[in-house]
Amino acid sequence: MKRALKQHVESLAQMGVTHVPRSKIKPRAKVSSQPAVHEPGEPRSADPENLMAEIVKEARACRACPLYKDATQAVVFDGTPRARLVFVGEAPGFEEDKQGVPFVGAAGQLLTKMIQAMGMQRSDVFICNVVKHRPPGNRTPEPDEAAACLPFLQRQLAIVQPKLICALGSVAAKALLGPGISIMKIRGSVQQYAGIPLVPTFHPAYLLRNPSAKKLAWADLQLVKRLIDQPSDSSG
Ligand code: SF4
Repeated sequence: MKRALKQHVESLAQMGVTHVPRSKIKPRAKVSSQPAVHEPGEPRSADPENLMAEIVKEARACRACPLYKDATQAVVFDGTPRARLVFVGEAPGFEEDKQGVPFVGAAGQLLTKMIQAMGMQRSDVFICNVVKHRPPGNRTPEPDEAAACLPFLQRQLAIVQPKLICALGSVAAKALLGPGISIMKIRGSVQQYAGIPLVPTFHPAYLLRNPSAKKLAWADLQLVKRLIDQPSDSSG
């Protein structure tokens, strides 16, 4: 327990949080892998793990845009397809391309700290990107590449049916909300994607380049945490 508390405090420090009331630094109970939001009594059409495995297979064979040509492999997701919270980033980078897992490089390590600062582990959430193959030199995906890959992301979100989506950065926010949005204007607000609340915030790579923005990102994540901890509306 002491080690978990220490890890939590270190994660908060990494996020630029220097003071937290004592009552707030207790590690919260581990988020269970309970089935995500769907109509009460409505059976899932198929096992989410199997459906996600199908997407992995299809992305590995996908040739819908040129990004596969320079990539080592498709990087499809990490975490659990039964998560209440989904993080959507931009694209795999060098480390992700090598390991086949999203968010494992420097930005990924910061995302892991952010998740831990929220009292969770990576295995409690679902992590993916807009595009599944690494753009050469880690460049931003072109709009037509993001559009070609979007059906995979849409299917992933339909399978997970999370309680909340956190869009990390401009590419993810634009893919899910429309090309006209500005991440600077809408970060920290509650938007909607297909009836699911969506909170946009900064991409961890941006936070590494702009550490002063970490406090704003932490405020956004506290909003995310409040929303996923809210009891689901049982009236419907
Ligand atoms: S980035 Fe997406 S659309 Fe392009 S080849 Fe890979 S899986 Fe297919």
